[in-house]
Amino acid sequence: DRIPLKRALISVSDKTGLIDFARALSARGVEILSTGGTAKALREAGLSVVDVADVTGFPEMMDGRVKTLHPVVHGGLLALRDNEEHMAAASSHNIGMIDLLVVNLYPFEATVAKGASYEDCIENIDIGGPAMIRAAAKNHAFVTVVVDVQDYSAVLAELDANDDATTLGFRQRQAQIAYARTSAYDAAVSGWMAGAIGEETPRRRSFAGTLAQSLRYGENPHQSAAFYRDGSDRPGVATAQQWQGKELSYNNINDTDAAFELVAEFDPAEGPAVAIIKHANPCGVARGKTAVEAYRRAFDCDRTSAFGGIIALNTVLDGETAQAITEIFTEVVIAPDATDEAKQIFAAKKNLRLLTTGGLPDPAAPGLAFRQVAGGFLVQGRDNGRILRADLKVVTKRKPGEQELEDLLFAWTVAKHVKSNAIVYARDLATVGIGAGQMSRVDSTRIGKRKSEDMAEALGLTEALTIGSSVASDAFFPFADGVEALAAAGARAVIQPGGSMRDAEVIEAADRLGLAMVFTGQRHFRH
Ligand code: 5GP
Repeated sequence: DRIPLKRALISVSDKTGLIDFARALSARGVEILSTGGTAKALREAGLSVVDVADVTGFPEMMDGRVKTLHPVVHGGLLALRDNEEHMAAASSHNIGMIDLLVVNLYPFEATVAKGASYEDCIENIDIGGPAMIRAAAKNHAFVTVVVDVQDYSAVLAELDANDDATTLGFRQRQAQIAYARTSAYDAAVSGWMAGAIGEETPRRRSFAGTLAQSLRYGENPHQSAAFYRDGSDRPGVATAQQWQGKELSYNNINDTDAAFELVAEFDPAEGPAVAIIKHANPCGVARGKTAVEAYRRAFDCDRTSAFGGIIALNTVLDGETAQAITEIFTEVVIAPDATDEAKQIFAAKKNLRLLTTGGLPDPAAPGLAFRQVAGGFLVQGRDNGRILRADLKVVTKRKPGEQELEDLLFAWTVAKHVKSNAIVYARDLATVGIGAGQMSRVDSTRIGKRKSEDMAEALGLTEALTIGSSVASDAFFPFADGVEALAAAGARAVIQPGGSMRDAEVIEAADRLGLAMVFTGQRHFRH
């Protein structure tokens, strides 16, 4: 199963490592065929190259749309060397065998990511490259295919270990990687087009990503894991720059995403907001006049849980906030940007990771969300629902006051990012009690209350901050008991979707207990 490597075709857009690799191949006596830009780069480095155009007898044409699409190329990649008919056809048409194909594709994903025009994106869809990759990968019984500059050294090591030949196992692995690349490439094209023509629905789509990073392990140490990028340019954990600290773990990435998506709901033009996340749920979210104030208020919601958390800011991380954050152990901080002073303060905390994104994602943007089930996966549009004041319907005798309205909308926005059943108590644009992920809404209500009481005790307050609070419920109350539990916690105003069969009973209870209640007409289940 060893195939000696005599002739290679190299056609690459990303020319990183090209010269060294080609030189190493030449030194092993490999003949190199190349397309325009690649051949030029190789010649400039003093290497001898045969132009593909000379082999095909056709010049590159139509803006490079047609370079290698020719039977002389594809025959050389696809012919079965042990098949007499194939070899006879090759020799009668003057088709030389190609043993190694090195291609990396037009940078379609990068072109999309930099916000290029529709025409530019279309022109960056590689046609000949994927055709050759698929041909070479299909014929891996004889041909080695390389689609990633990171694999150059592995090819040379393989040749060194096998007297300038490759083994079947190596060629199989390379073929498998090649198909992963072409399928991810086409999925990126399809995904981009869906957005470009406003058809971003979960239907008739193919999904794939590009391996960004192998992770040490998954949610637990006995699970393997990896991180894939889907080519979107949405600011967030996938595209962020990491300034310090060790590699992010699977759970870190998941929680950091939850944290940043949450704070992105709060327009920085209306002031700083900070979210602290544990296990993908917020344990404190607050706005403030300054970032440090927002952080301290978020921290005060549940200081116990905040330990070892993930912190997201919707604004620049400044020195004062960085200093406050270092008072306890935190896993990750993510923000659109950070000052030099903040970076210096964090530098002393070796285990703390700092990520900056350069911006905030648009919470209203369309997109897709995935969930795996046995035998497949579920796809839905991302939850980009938003409620404005004008959407609210007051259903009780008492109307919420101005501050209550602001707190209701704040709590509602946070509740969207809390696992169901979600209950979020808020006061003065800070959460003061969060009940997450319970099977009963009444239990979430009680948990939020108890946490608030614990914090009141820890902070030396005379009473829990849920007393006088405004509270959000991510879905309707099926019975009056949930509202009664809120009143027992001291809440004064409630925001919820409405729509229960027993809405009348729920409203009657709110009126009886003196609560103001508004309906949103939209729910935010998050499972
Ligand atoms: P070069 O820089 O050598 O001129 O071009 C290299 C790029 O051309 C590679 O990314 C390769 O995938 C792509 N390529 C090779 N053959 C063809 C072809 O026939 N059509 C198109 N559109 N691209 C090709």
